[in-house]
Amino acid sequence: MTRKKFFKIIFLIFLFIKIPFKLFSKTKKKGKFCMVFDDAGGLASSVENLKKLAKENLEITVAIIAYSNHEEEIFDVLANYENAEIILHQAMECVNMEKRNLANDLEKNPRKKGEKYVQEKHSAIYDFDSTKLAISIIDNNIKHINNAFEKRGSYKKIIGLNNHMGSLVSKNKNIIRSISLYCYFYDLILFDSKSSDESIIYEEAKKLNVKTCIRNYDFIDGNTKEKLEIAEKMVQNGQNIITIGHLNYRGTIRLYIEHAKKSKFLNKLSEFFNEE
Ligand SMILES: [Zn+2]
Repeated sequence: MTRKKFFKIIFLIFLFIKIPFKLFSKTKKKGKFCMVFDDAGGLASSVENLKKLAKENLEITVAIIAYSNHEEEIFDVLANYENAEIILHQAMECVNMEKRNLANDLEKNPRKKGEKYVQEKHSAIYDFDSTKLAISIIDNNIKHINNAFEKRGSYKKIIGLNNHMGSLVSKNKNIIRSISLYCYFYDLILFDSKSSDESIIYEEAKKLNVKTCIRNYDFIDGNTKEKLEIAEKMVQNGQNIITIGHLNYRGTIRLYIEHAKKSKFLNKLSEFFNEE
């Protein structure tokens, strides 16, 4: 065998060993999963369920409705719940408002077109609002919540926002653009709950380089166990999943806690934006 031939054979053997080794040794990077707990403060059950999560001290993200019926109790629990981060659950007008139960849902006193906006009484954004008013409503809601924590001696602060309902407002370009700019300016996460297919929140925020994300998985309520198991497999395969479960559903919370105890794939929303 010539010297040249010998090296050629060695090279080929090396190639045959190296290529499959490289293919199989490529370990897939795990994805991230977050379920935001929506509607904190709306119903009394949201307080009871939050207490159960606090007892386990799970790392969670809670979306609070400003000026909601049970917000004070929610603030009390969260002020001592170190592993919970908070976002504003900003109520926005939806297409079929009159069919909703507004007492606990969007607002206690739904604002009519032309009616003056009053702090402490109104907290939702309507499609007829000017961009200036929409921003001042968000600003007031955030200050209201941050002040409540400060009063309780807690350093917890709002780190982002998502929409509560809002099938009408979430497609209003002027309002969504202004909200995006506000989030950019204050370095807040803008999370599109995707309450309707027509929502443009995520697209608009992306254009303006806002820290943004979108719900890309079914709401967790109903068949919760199954949905969490499927999500976990998707995360193992490298996918990122952000979704929503409602804090007022006892079943959702019980199954989430059960899952969290045996699994370590749950993240907070802010972890999607951490530098790596
Ligand atoms: Zn909601």
